Amino acid sequence: MPELPEVETVRRGLAPHLVGRRIVRVDQRRPDLRWPMPPDLVQVLTGALVTDLRRRSKYILADLDRDASLLLHLGMSGRIRIEGEALGRFHHDPSILTRHDHLVLTTEDGTTITLNDARRFGAVDLVREGSHRLLAALGPEPFDEDFTPARLVSALAGKKAPIKAALLDQRIVAGLGNIYVCEALFRAGIHPTRASGRIGPERIARLHVAIREVLLLAIEAGGSSLRDHRQTSGELGYFQHSFRVYGREGQPCLRDGCGGTVRRIVQSGRSTWYCPDCQR
Ligand code: ZN
Repeated sequence: MPELPEVETVRRGLAPHLVGRRIVRVDQRRPDLRWPMPPDLVQVLTGALVTDLRRRSKYILADLDRDASLLLHLGMSGRIRIEGEALGRFHHDPSILTRHDHLVLTTEDGTTITLNDARRFGAVDLVREGSHRLLAALGPEPFDEDFTPARLVSALAGKKAPIKAALLDQRIVAGLGNIYVCEALFRAGIHPTRASGRIGPERIARLHVAIREVLLLAIEAGGSSLRDHRQTSGELGYFQHSFRVYGREGQPCLRDGCGGTVRRIVQSGRSTWYCPDCQR
């Protein structure tokens, strides 16, 4: 499942081809992905000028010169492909089956932007009047100014839930998933089962730094490609080569001087990797 860095990577790849461009053709090949697409999707998008391309949590939002924004979610396996004569030679990944191309947008210069989603857990919708049920309950963005260490401390205060679960809760901070929660907890030296409300403010401040740090590094690396994530150029992200704990069960801890061995446990049905010696 793409997390914030993967979605941000896709957004950055897409922006130069969409922002300031007009969509001249919309080819919608099925009525639904995870949920039905809006019945007037083609009508709203055709002829629309894209004025901005934003990311909120794991959603990409294309603002239009009309009373709606296009919302895209990549689900488990969604990929966006950009092709066109204006781009010269383009990457073609033979593993992509075009029968999973569900939505194709063509802009005025002939560039096509294709949403391919083999497993169809993704979503395409319209945000009207600035609100949408998928966006309504989201907490702060990790890079927002108002996501401060103090805010994180108060969001976790009194919570008995393990810190791993709290960080996956999109109401506390938006955009994190399994990979980056494991990596941030490792960097902060916090044990994933520790009760959220029982971690001191100094350690929470360290966690706050670790969250931003790991996300920034991952965005710079084009995200993590475990299964399906590709940058819009078709290239793999490469942050998976920088994981310190994720997927490293039984391997030595990478913290200088620790000497521990990475362990895997299951929390709420999902694997957590951590070092029992240096995460407390
Ligand atoms: Zn360790």
